[in-house]
Amino acid sequence: MSKNKEIMDFAEQAIIHTYNRFPIVLDHGDGVYLYDVDGKKYLDFAAGIAVCALGYNVPEYNQALKDQIDKIIHVSNLYYTEPMAKAANSLIAACGLKKVFFTNSGTEAIEGAIKLARKYAYSRDKGSTDHEIIAMDHSFHGRSIGALSVTGNPHYQEAFKPLIDKIVFAKYNDLEDVKSKITDKTCAIIMETVQGEGGIYPAQADFIKGVRKLCDDHDILLILDEIQCGMGRSGKMFAYEYFGIKPDILTAAKALGCGVPLGAFVAGEKVENTLEAGDHGSTYGGNPFATAAANAVFDLFEKKHVLENVNTVAPYLAQKLDELKDKYDFIVDSRGLGLMRGLEFSCPVGPIVSGCIKNGLIVISAGTNVIRFVPPLVITKENVDEMVEVLDKVLAEM
Ligand SMILES: *Cc1c(COP(=O)(O)O)cnc(C)c1O
Repeated sequence: MSKNKEIMDFAEQAIIHTYNRFPIVLDHGDGVYLYDVDGKKYLDFAAGIAVCALGYNVPEYNQALKDQIDKIIHVSNLYYTEPMAKAANSLIAACGLKKVFFTNSGTEAIEGAIKLARKYAYSRDKGSTDHEIIAMDHSFHGRSIGALSVTGNPHYQEAFKPLIDKIVFAKYNDLEDVKSKITDKTCAIIMETVQGEGGIYPAQADFIKGVRKLCDDHDILLILDEIQCGMGRSGKMFAYEYFGIKPDILTAAKALGCGVPLGAFVAGEKVENTLEAGDHGSTYGGNPFATAAANAVFDLFEKKHVLENVNTVAPYLAQKLDELKDKYDFIVDSRGLGLMRGLEFSCPVGPIVSGCIKNGLIVISAGTNVIRFVPPLVITKENVDEMVEVLDKVLAEM
């Protein structure tokens, strides 16, 4: 029996089956390649779902973590640490907002953003507690009850009701629909700047600017979820920079720690002092180990000119995927922003994704019909060629 199979069976006997995992056991990584326990090599165009922006086995990143381990890993949030101070200041410098709260995951960042929005409206409206939040169809914000409540996917929600109250859904990229959902109880509008799990849909400029204006006109907070599209993936540090706007609350996670679990919600000027001592907390959030990872990430983004690389390679990836779309009539759309791209098929993509993995290429889906490309941000054009060669071969056999 292969080592892959042996460990898969060992895992399945003890892990709750909430994922239909691919039948490989990953063991280690180097650069943009992963290796399974039987020694097979894979080109990685998934990056642990848009997390491992720097790729794998990066000496400077590894050393920074090792150094922090030898000093201290955790202290709780009752004390200050230098790594946390540094990471918070780097993050506000990167996003242009004011104050950070660190979490351990994306979904917790969304929870914090929702709490912050509700507290703002509560204080403004002298204690009223019936505020509404507008969220988008086909959005994804996480799996905790609060984050799930604003996730526009009934399939994920159904068995877990009742969810939190007073969430209203609107159509993404449809300004009139959002406008029609606003009431005098609306306290926040939450959306991804580029929808990820929902199928890789970037916000249209008129839409997102229009939503920003609606928020300004009605004293509504704009929450932009850049957990997936943020941290350089779009070609800007945060995708909203393309539109000359800022959110009132930003959520980040995924590539923020590049693999060490770390998320954050960041408050803009309007809400920087809304949460007060006692209002929110986390035992681990922003601990020195996790924030040392973020500090290494911010350092290496500069040293390795990560944004420049995204802007060099992304147009090439887009061109190559567009060519595949022209070649195969079962590919119906090619879209995305930066190194976050989707190819939409007229059929479910599961068998294609499995075929790629068999051929040494890791890609993932976004919904049923879309293959998602969210590689490490350090990939080269040669890596794109290598990816396209495998994908083309798999498609030709379909
Ligand atoms: C992944 C993701 C989340 C949830 O993050 P977790 O770390 O899995 O909790 C929320 N929003 C978006 C846009 C995501 O891509």
